[in-house]
Amino acid sequence: MTRSVSFALETIRTVAWMKEVARQARAEGRIIGLVPTMGALHEGHLSLIHRARQDCNPVIASIFVNPTQFGPKEDFTKYPRSFESDVAQLSAAGVDSLFAPDAAEIYPNGFHTYVNVEGLSERLEGRSRPGHFRGVATVVLKLLEIVQPHFAYFGRKDAQQAGIVQQLVRDLNLNANIVVCPIVRESDGLALSSRNAYLKPGERRAATVLYRALDTARKEIASGARDALHLQAAMRRVLDAEPLASTDYAEIVDAGTFEPVTQIRRACYALVAAFIGGTRLIDNMLIEPREGAEGDFHVSL
Ligand code: AMP
Repeated sequence: MTRSVSFALETIRTVAWMKEVARQARAEGRIIGLVPTMGALHEGHLSLIHRARQDCNPVIASIFVNPTQFGPKEDFTKYPRSFESDVAQLSAAGVDSLFAPDAAEIYPNGFHTYVNVEGLSERLEGRSRPGHFRGVATVVLKLLEIVQPHFAYFGRKDAQQAGIVQQLVRDLNLNANIVVCPIVRESDGLALSSRNAYLKPGERRAATVLYRALDTARKEIASGARDALHLQAAMRRVLDAEPLASTDYAEIVDAGTFEPVTQIRRACYALVAAFIGGTRLIDNMLIEPREGAEGDFHVSL
C-alpha cells in the first residue's frame, strides 16, 4: 500500500519571518526564486511558478493586493480575492513558501518612503493611471529587499511593469535577475488576467478585440509594414470598431525605453489598452529583429 503524505504550503505573514526563511535558504547555498502576485491566480501566474521551478529551489510566491498601486477611483476594494484556491494552486504547482502579508505589515503606521522610476513611469499605463508605477516600484523594491531572491519572475503581459522593474534593479544595483516570461492566453487569444473575472458574457466575447488589434498589426508587419503611425492606426481601427470597447491607447514603442518610435527598426512593443464595459484591459506583442535576416522581424503575441 502506498501512503501519500501531503505537506501544507507554509504561509508567511510577517516580514521578519520571511527574511528569516530566505536567510536560511541563502545560508544553505540555495537559489531563491520569487514570483510576486496579487492573487486570484490563473495559468498566467502558474507559468511563472513553473519557470521559477526550473531555475530555483526554493520558489517563494507572494500574494499581496498592493493598495498603493491603485488609484482612488480604481478597483482595490473589489479586486478578486480567492486566497484558499490560490494556496491550493500554489501548493500543487510546487511552491515552497507563500509570503502573504497584510497591508499594515508592508505599510505600517509612519511609512513615508516611496520609489519612483522617472520617465518610464509617466508614459502609457502611467499616463492613464497616475501613481500606479510608484506603488508598483515601491512594493517590488520592498519584496526584493525582504526576500533577496537570485531570480524574480514577471509576466510580459505587463510589459511596462517589467521594464520598470528592470530599470529599478539596474539603477539601484539590486542583485536579483529579472526574468520576463511569455503571455499565457485563452484559446481565442484573450490574455489571462485576474480582471477577466469582471467581464459579463457579451463583454468576454468583445474582450478579444485587444488580441485582434495586435494580430492585425502582426499581419501588417509580416507583409512588410514598418511605419508606426500606420500600424497604430490599423490597431485603433480594430479597437474602435468594437461597440463594447473604449480605446485608451494603441502605440508602438521602443522595447527598452518605451519611447514612441516612427519606424520599426529595432525591438519594439505594440501595446494596447481599452475599457470593455467598466473593465480596463491591457495587452501587447513583442516585435524583435530576426537574427541573421536584416529588416525581418519576429513577433511574439
Ligand atoms: P498580478 O497578480 O496581476 O499582479 O500578476 C502577477 C504576475 O503575473 C505579473 O508579473 C504579471 O505580469 C503576471 N501575469 C499576469 N497575467 C499573465 C499572463 N496572462 N501571462 C503571463 N504572465 C502573467
